[in-house]
Amino acid sequence: MTAAPTAEPVVDPHPGAEAQEVAAALRAAGLEVRDDDGTRAMYATDASLYRIPPLVVVRPRHVDEVAATLEVARATGVPLTSRGAGTSVAGNAVGRGIVVDFSRHLGRVLEVDPEARTATVEPGAVHATLQKAAAPHGVRFGPDPSTHPRCTVGGMIGNNACGSRSLAYGRTSDNVAGLAMLTASGEQVETGYAADGTPWVRGGEQLVADLRSVMGRHLATARTELDTFGRQVSGYAAQHLLPERFDLTKALVGSEGTLGVLTRATVRLVADAPVRVVVVLGFDDIVAAGAAAPAVVEHGPTSCEGLDSRLLSVLRERRGEGAVPPLPRGAAWLFVELAGDDAAEVRDRAERLAAAGIGVDSAVVPDPAVQARLWRIREDGAGMAGRSPAHRPAWPGWEDAAVPPARLGEYLADFDALVTSYGMTSAPFGHFGDGCMHVRLDYPLDRPDGTSVLREFLVSAAQLVGRYGGSLSGEHGDGRARSELLPHMYSADAIALFAGVKHAFDPANLLNPGVLVDPDPVDADVRVAGVGPVRRLGRTPLAFAYPHDDGDLAQAVHRCTGVGKCRADNSAAGGVMCPSWLATREEKDSTRGRSRVLQDVVRGALSVRDPEVHDSLDLCLSCKGCASDCPTGIDVATYKSEVLHQTYRRRLRPRSHYSLGWLPRWARAVGRVPGAAAVANTSLRLPVLGRVGKAAAGVDHRRSVPAFASRPFRSWPAPPAGGTPGAGTPVVLFADSFSGAFDPEAAAAVVRVLRDAGYEPLLPATQRCCGLTWITTGQLDAAKRILGATVADLARPARDGVPIVGIEPSCTGVLRSDALELFTGTDLEDDARVVAGATTTLAELLSRTEGWEPPDLTGTEVVAQPHCHHHAVMGWDTDAALLARTGADVRRLAGCCGLAGNFGVEVGHYEVSVAVAEQQLLPALDAAPHAVVLADGFSCRTQVADLRDRPSVHLAQLLDAGARWSSREGR
Ligand SMILES: Cc1cc2nc3c(=O)[nH]c(=O)nc-3n(C[C@H](O)[C@H](O)[C@H](O)COP(=O)(O)OP(=O)(O)OC[C@H]3O[C@@H](n4cnc5c(N)ncnc54)[C@H](O)[C@@H]3O)c2cc1C
Repeated sequence: MTAAPTAEPVVDPHPGAEAQEVAAALRAAGLEVRDDDGTRAMYATDASLYRIPPLVVVRPRHVDEVAATLEVARATGVPLTSRGAGTSVAGNAVGRGIVVDFSRHLGRVLEVDPEARTATVEPGAVHATLQKAAAPHGVRFGPDPSTHPRCTVGGMIGNNACGSRSLAYGRTSDNVAGLAMLTASGEQVETGYAADGTPWVRGGEQLVADLRSVMGRHLATARTELDTFGRQVSGYAAQHLLPERFDLTKALVGSEGTLGVLTRATVRLVADAPVRVVVVLGFDDIVAAGAAAPAVVEHGPTSCEGLDSRLLSVLRERRGEGAVPPLPRGAAWLFVELAGDDAAEVRDRAERLAAAGIGVDSAVVPDPAVQARLWRIREDGAGMAGRSPAHRPAWPGWEDAAVPPARLGEYLADFDALVTSYGMTSAPFGHFGDGCMHVRLDYPLDRPDGTSVLREFLVSAAQLVGRYGGSLSGEHGDGRARSELLPHMYSADAIALFAGVKHAFDPANLLNPGVLVDPDPVDADVRVAGVGPVRRLGRTPLAFAYPHDDGDLAQAVHRCTGVGKCRADNSAAGGVMCPSWLATREEKDSTRGRSRVLQDVVRGALSVRDPEVHDSLDLCLSCKGCASDCPTGIDVATYKSEVLHQTYRRRLRPRSHYSLGWLPRWARAVGRVPGAAAVANTSLRLPVLGRVGKAAAGVDHRRSVPAFASRPFRSWPAPPAGGTPGAGTPVVLFADSFSGAFDPEAAAAVVRVLRDAGYEPLLPATQRCCGLTWITTGQLDAAKRILGATVADLARPARDGVPIVGIEPSCTGVLRSDALELFTGTDLEDDARVVAGATTTLAELLSRTEGWEPPDLTGTEVVAQPHCHHHAVMGWDTDAALLARTGADVRRLAGCCGLAGNFGVEVGHYEVSVAVAEQQLLPALDAAPHAVVLADGFSCRTQVADLRDRPSVHLAQLLDAGARWSSREGR
């Protein structure tokens, strides 16, 4: 299958005999080995611009298995690259040979010692897991990179990571108390510090002697060229090997897996200041913000972060105006955090900073909720900057250079000019207090000369930083993006020193070759080079229009730059992404893993019908969590539909596509025949028939089959739902197939609430369906026919200004979003646009209805499960605000309920569906046995009934019951 019409498919040479030999040797050693094409695609890249498929991936279960893997690497001469969460931005965690994934099994926090304020961890321990273990003792690990919810301690040590609070907590190297590692030769070396702080080394006698000898040859260079300012991250930290301070622990941190394989780490913990106040300072431009940073740092902040309006524009486009809290006047800002023990003292310092006349305007932000929104902007910055201000894909490569902070302003001005001279655009941001700037650039990688432009730019940028006495990397390490450029920053003698250090540790260049010493070219193995636009797969044109990606599937799937936010529990921020990863903790079940596999599809390395592709998509719930929660704007639900469409178009499909995918059709047929609902309901509940029926329909036997309503909503006598019909303001009620056939009570409640609010709900003349089940099962020709007729029908009242009120959130979401994805560029585009604009949720309509007051629900305990599509497409904040007005005590759940339409019902998905429910929904239900369960989604209500045999209601039912209750009570 050819994917790219404008370029030859970029198919990798088959790994061949070498891979088989290595895999066989690793398997013989009893290791957990993956060498299928899907896994190789997933581990071929990190969060960088590079793509290097490994021969094989090993996931060690204990330290002995790490040693065994190294032994195979040595015996076969195949290089080994260690990997944590794979969020490196410079290609630090990809390699051609064996990739060792520490994050899968070696992620335990072994010990927290509150007295010594240390913790000992396995290298794959996620930073957030460490924080969770340390929190009960009132301590934390200080460095907090933006990827803290998913990055591993091993990876942080590999990159010497730090974060926006490095002004207070320093870098990882300042917070490590000891390491255990294996050298390339398999020797165990341990490092640490005596009680008086003197560094010690156990094992590695020859290594230490060799290192001392290397240092002896480069003393002057090590003393003058290294460690010149805080963010000099590029190269090895060989200054720590100088005779006067020989400290192997610190020297190893930041060596990017090139010197040894870490098997255990002891880190220092710090007590967190309980009070934090943020001061936001506004500036005319980013140069002024950069120039002001040193003056701000004199106020002793824990954090001083800069950004400008370019990044905020991208954010507003992606997440709406409300995504950015009000900021002081200006076009660039510094977010400055002050922390301490005494609230009044911290507040006083904040006021003084705000009044210090730095910048053009200022605001003090004491509210932790607003602070969290500000930090989210910063943390999602790199992901959001994946689209440039010119709306082109933007890439890492030159993304974290630093200069001495006093020179940051000048550097920013020169850097902007350099970017412009290349016809590129950028949205810079970063740790301005440390002189470190992050940026993504829209290199023209789609052009045949794209990688040459990349190289030319990187060299120019390196020369610029060299002139400023800066560091090519100020945070993320050199990886493949910067190692070749080190001579623009360092003298030949410093480069020779680095080579000497590497040789002492790893003479055969077995560990992460191509990085730091003897580097690969910066323009080799570029992930998107040669991947042309993809507007069809094989002979089948794409079904979706991909309006945000120029109709190009390659651009769409390459939105995933690997930031890995899908490998975190995003529920604390109310997020949904990625339920299947949370359930299985497998890369293949993450948004990123799926995107990587799809990236191989668009480059032609995998076929859309390959089992690896379907395996990676199988557990995608199509919840659309990624579409809203991933800062890159990836939308795997849409791509999954496309893949299913491309795979099964005019072919025999899985059974559930005919049963669940056609459910609205079956429901309509049942509704037409009097008595058919009762027969169907009874038969499907008979043990044998029910089981056979479910098996034939591809439905898991543990699932209940929702009962058909004895009378579908549309055939209710007029007025269909009670209330007072009359001369209210007309609205169209989109009574979807689920509400109509299975839960007419919810639809009736919507009618009553609308009438009480002064509306007259009208039903479209014909029963219409949005085609959701056809969309999720990838029957996109049928979906377009069904949805097309609906959109054409609804466009007439919509053009007359009549709002369309949805009942079922996923169907409302189809009208608001999928219709545009499907019909942009077709005759129906205008209709789809007008319908999307007119479609509203009940809460949205009521919230803007003058004079409408919600019922008083004070004292009512509510557990609310927002539907995933509601969260992703419409957002649930309006519902939350409306519920707050009722006075109800609402616990808003994050995450997915786990059923997600057809997903949780299908054979093979039950366990994951339940595991997803166990994350948020089920514990919340169990903790509140008497609460009203609010779930607008029919599938969420089904999940609650199936797993806890508990009733749940639609918002309309809650408001309707509340209104009746309030009036009865005379309130
Ligand atoms: C959106 C985004 C924001 C980021 N923000 C920051 C930031 O604020 N600050 C920051 O410092 N970084 C940041 N990074 C970079 C990266 O997330 C961090 O450096 C992180 O600590 C890497 O951890 P990881 O588990 O993903 O490591 P990986 O990427 O898997 O590995 C990192 C390095 O460590 C090596 N390594 C991993 N495990 C071992 C081991 N057991 N033994 C030997 N070597 C090992 C790898 O070979 C590699 O060279 C960001 C990245 C992204 C995508």
